[in-house]
Amino acid sequence: MPAHDTHLWRPYTQMKGAAPPLEAVRTHGSRIVLADGRELVDGIASWWTAVHGYNHPHIREALVAQSEAMPHVMFGGLTHAPAERLAARLAALLPGDLDHVFFTDSGSVAVEVALKMAVQLWINRGVAGRTRILAFREGYHGDTLGAMSVCDPEEGMHRRFGAYLPAQVFCDLPRDAGTTAALDAALARHGRELAAIIVEPLVQGAGGMRMHGPETLASVARLARRHGLPLILDEIFTGFGRTGTLFACEQAGVTPDILCLSKALTGGTLALAATVARTEIFAGFWSDDPAAALMHGPTFMANPLACAAANASLDLFAREPRLEQARAIGKRLAAGLGPLARLPGIRDVRTLGAIGVVQFESPPDLAALKRALVARGTWVRPFGDILYLTPALTIGAGDLDHLVESVGAVVREAASA
Ligand SMILES: *Cc1c(COP(=O)(O)O)cnc(C)c1O
Repeated sequence: MPAHDTHLWRPYTQMKGAAPPLEAVRTHGSRIVLADGRELVDGIASWWTAVHGYNHPHIREALVAQSEAMPHVMFGGLTHAPAERLAARLAALLPGDLDHVFFTDSGSVAVEVALKMAVQLWINRGVAGRTRILAFREGYHGDTLGAMSVCDPEEGMHRRFGAYLPAQVFCDLPRDAGTTAALDAALARHGRELAAIIVEPLVQGAGGMRMHGPETLASVARLARRHGLPLILDEIFTGFGRTGTLFACEQAGVTPDILCLSKALTGGTLALAATVARTEIFAGFWSDDPAAALMHGPTFMANPLACAAANASLDLFAREPRLEQARAIGKRLAAGLGPLARLPGIRDVRTLGAIGVVQFESPPDLAALKRALVARGTWVRPFGDILYLTPALTIGAGDLDHLVESVGAVVREAASA
């Protein structure tokens, strides 16, 4: 029997010998309060979700009001104002005719729905054999079966489950003439088996915070169009201001056929995701045949509490200068982290919007790094060979200085060790 003092099974954690997790009891602003009274400045906004900081009163009030009226009701056969309003607002904010919103409850499932949408679109059109997806190396799209199948093929989880996963087609992002030609060739070679292309615009997040320019995204969109394939943008990480614009695709002037949102959608309060399709995609399901309907429907889809929180979060984006705040954070991160690039053992320092990344030459001792940061009152989650900051867009100047200084201090310590 394993010696184990909790009933909880933790994410991505070898339970044997795992250091006990810190116990959080309260949150406020950009701070997490621990059971022992210590307070940590959160450098990653709770896995990229809490863009307005924690416990924002406007979101809390919306949640309280909605919990009194109707915390949940099934969505099959019923509708409600929070979902209708949120879908209309997302359609208005997103570019082009991305007007048809399907709600789910996690990013992975939003990606599953996007992939199923693309595959079923071809079935509905009477075209057989288009069941594969073209995805990019170093990408990350989630932990469920279809989503895992489009994650980087060499990454640990994908490799481990390889035999269980649908075989997809992988390419390098088209960053130059050679990789653009290779992508074009792969699209020509696999054209008749492909249902769609999926990509994270501007930043591949969980795959290593790798950034690419708007011209790379524009190349992907151009090639998708040339080969007649729907383009799926996974904006689950990049959406809602993280890259300095409300959506990353705006920076490339690209309107995808299908777009996935989650993470910051409810301002970090409740689980909610959306898969948004252009009218041409939606029209592919519009039919007298019931079997042509989109075949998906999670029990808790469009949960009214989550929709109310998301509407409140959109109010804050409308009322408060979040995008300016994101760009100001980016400047501070660039100025504060930039000099670390000259240290031995550091491969690269890069920033975009409110994202700052320090990449080591080789994977550092992550556990030691985390301990050193917690000792300095900082909460981050370094992974692989990177240490990164993605703070709340509302973070105060003092807390942001604290993050930059503590990251600088531990990176200097690691470099001189
Ligand atoms: C986090 C993430 C997902 C998965 O979302 P979950 O809510 O964890 O299922 C998918 N794609 C991207 C780009 C993400 O960052």
